[in-house]
Amino acid sequence: MDKMFTCCFCGQRVLAKTRLHQHQRNHCPNCLWSKHLDQSVGDRQAKCGGCMEPIGLTFKNEGLDKYGKARAGELMIIHYCSKCGKISLNRIASDDDEQEILDILAKSASLDQTMIDQLEQSQIAVIKNSQLEEVKTLLFGKT
Ligand SMILES: [Zn+2]
Ligand SMILES: [Zn+2]
Repeated sequence: MDKMFTCCFCGQRVLAKTRLHQHQRNHCPNCLWSKHLDQSVGDRQAKCGGCMEPIGLTFKNEGLDKYGKARAGELMIIHYCSKCGKISLNRIASDDDEQEILDILAKSASLDQTMIDQLEQSQIAVIKNSQLEEVKTLLFGKT
């Protein structure tokens, strides 16, 4: 059965699970806010139901290549639960608003140091504005 949830930021009804998506969607395609629901396996706080703010972007950790350089993986959204403080990473869906994704990138430049430290402790490297071209290439393909 299809699962719906109401986006707590813009109020849109979001279909969490559709046959169109290979992966379950857990964030709003409009504003990219998410809801802390029982969608990730093994998440004990999944009944939280808090609003999860998209605070930044990161590349999926794909390990190191044979030269010891970090491989640039898939683009992920960093979501932060405003209720319980959980941080989770979510892959971008094909119908996510690209402009919103770029807005998150711009916004993440003003993340406070406490949050950056917390992300670093979780081995999450926030994509910086200087990597904008890289992000655009992933979103729009090479031009
Ligand atoms: Zn929304
Ligand atoms: Zn939560």
